This record gives sequence, C-alpha cells and structure tokens, in this order.
Amino acid sequence: VRRFLIAASAGFVLAYTALRAREAWKDLNAPAGPLEKDAREYGATKRALMIAGLARSLAGHATVAFALSERMPRSARESSSPLNVAAWNALGTLAEAALDLPVDYVERYVLERRYGLSDQKLDDWLRDRAKMTLVSLALTTPLVMGLTAVARRFPRTWPLIASAATPPLLIFLSLVTPVYVAPIFNKFEPLRGTLEQRLRRLAERYGVGDADIFRFDMSRQTKKANAYVAGLLGTHRIAIADTLLDGFSEDEIEFVVAHELGHYVARDTWMGVAVGSIAIAALLHAANALARRGDASDASFAGFARLSFWMQLLGVAAGPLLAAGSRWIERRADRFALGATHRPDWGIAAFERLREKNLAEDEQPRWAELLISTHPSLRSRIEALRAATV
Ligand SMILES: [Zn+2]
Repeated sequence: VRRFLIAASAGFVLAYTALRAREAWKDLNAPAGPLEKDAREYGATKRALMIAGLARSLAGHATVAFALSERMPRSARESSSPLNVAAWNALGTLAEAALDLPVDYVERYVLERRYGLSDQKLDDWLRDRAKMTLVSLALTTPLVMGLTAVARRFPRTWPLIASAATPPLLIFLSLVTPVYVAPIFNKFEPLRGTLEQRLRRLAERYGVGDADIFRFDMSRQTKKANAYVAGLLGTHRIAIADTLLDGFSEDEIEFVVAHELGHYVARDTWMGVAVGSIAIAALLHAANALARRGDASDASFAGFARLSFWMQLLGVAAGPLLAAGSRWIERRADRFALGATHRPDWGIAAFERLREKNLAEDEQPRWAELLISTHPSLRSRIEALRAATV
C-alpha cells in the first residue's frame, strides 16, 4: 500500500507537470485568446486550481519524504550536518521551482492575462519568480541549518526549543519584510498630496496621524486593487496599491484606508505574530510525533523532509480555523471603517468597485467560504453596511 501510494503521488506530480508543460508550450507558440469576464467562472477556476495545487504540493513532498530521501547517497542520507541538510533543502527548493514553472505559467500568468487582469511582460514575471525563489532560499537556508543544529544537539527537546524561538523569529521577519523584502518586488513611496492630508486627518482622530502611508506600484504585476498593513514598531505601515489609488474615487479610498486603519490601530500584525507562533508550535509538535512514529527522531534531511510533509498536511487541516479567525478580524476592521467614516455608502461603492476591478465573486459556495476564505464574502460585507444605522 505504501509503495503504491508513493508511486501514485510521484506519478500524479509528473503527469500534472507534463500536461501543464505541454499547454505552456502551446500557449508560447500561439497565445490563447481572452476569456469572458465572468466572476463566477473565474472564481470556480481559481478554487479548482488551488485544490489541485494543494494536492500536487502534498504529493510532491510525500514523494521526497518517503521515497527520494531514502534513495539518496548513504553518506548524505545519514548525515545530520546542518550544511548537508541545508544543501539538500536548497536543491529541493530549486527542483520545486523548476517543476512549478510550467504549472504557474498556465495557472497564473496565462489565466490572469486571458481574464484581462494583468498585462505583465513574461520576462518581468520570470524575474519576479526568480527573485521569489532566491528570497525563499535566503530565508529558509539559515532556518534549516539552525533547526538541524538544535535537533542534533537536543534530540528530545528540540521542538520545545524551536517553539520558543518562533516568536522572536516571526517578530524579526515582520520587522524586516516591509523594509527589505517587499521593495525587492515593488517600489514604495510615501503618499503625498491632498489625499494624504485627508487620510492623515482621519488617522489623527485615532492618535496615529504620523502613521507611515505608502503608495506602491502593484500595477507592475496586476490590474487588481489592494491595500494592506504590515510591519511592527518602527516598520508598521499602511501600503496602498497604485491600482487602488488611480482606479477608485477619494471617498472609496478613504473607506478602504479606514478599514486598514482598523488593522493598524488594533495592531493586528502583532496578532499575526501571536497566532502564527501558536500555530507553528502546535504543528511542530504534532508533526514531530507523526514523523518519528516507528523511526527514531533524526536530524538528517530525510527526517527533516518527513517533518515538513506532516507539517504541511496538518497545516491544511488547520487552515479553516485560521481562515475563520481572519474573517473575524476583517469584519472588525469593516466595523471600524464604518465607525470612522460614518459613510456606509462609501464602503458599498468601494466594495462594488473592488468586485469589478478584481473580478471578485459576490459570494463563494458555502464550503469554500467556510474552509478557505480569509475575508467575508463581498455580499455579506455590503449587506452589513446596508444594515448599518449611522
Ligand atoms: Zn483587512
């Protein structure tokens, strides 16, 4: 059964990749035409691809953890030298990036182009992907080395030590990401002008009139609009996409920024660190218990690959709970925006504009909303505003 499952997993990954590679090759030679702008169709496609992507990723990690890592050269397989483990991990990351390339070309690049949501040039898209792989290597290599060193030195207690190290690590990542990682992909500049004045007056009422507000060129990647809050302490900031600033009215922008201000004032990025730390600690302990079942715990690449497979599988299972928490935080930010602006009509207009620009569905199927949505449906957000008495 075990052998059959491993063969099926490997076969699935290879067949799926081959199929997409053929489609990618066809599209490169004769680009497929545009698709009708149907939000329901687009949403259903994205959901199906997301589920296929999860299955593919789990199958790929299972193949590495339970088959490939056991066929590695013996010296490499049994070595628990941090450098050795990190080198194999880097090799795995690069192999994964190569296998993902044709898949993502068809499922992201071509799909977004056909729905008229992006006109990014192929070399810009490829450059972004190369940067992403390098950033991921730069972040995971020291992490894997540290984890291996601790697991080798403390074979019994290392999950506890790793859990204790998670909050400071997440704090460090949250501090540096907006300042050193995000600018690798986009240009950020302080928002200026009359709109800035208007947004500052809003922020001042909550004692954060000096908040950093940035504009960034998301139009490089997509026509979709977005805004977010990132960072902690000195790097805490509100970032607004140029697609939003250029495509929305000032009233609509003020409502969106008021929503982000809700996250900013509530310091939701700290909540992210707290929830992330608890989730990682729980996953690490559960995955370690599953990974060492039968085998002795080991700090080799094979041990690490098994651990990361189980962490991913359990992470999928924990997803719905995290998504529900996220929807709760989003509803709270919507209520904040309503209280700050007293203009439900601005909010309704903003959500309707978002629906049009992002080709978003009014409502997802119930199962999708419950299992995967990090935001409440547009319909329920608009209904909440309609029902509001200001
Ligand atoms: Zn939000």
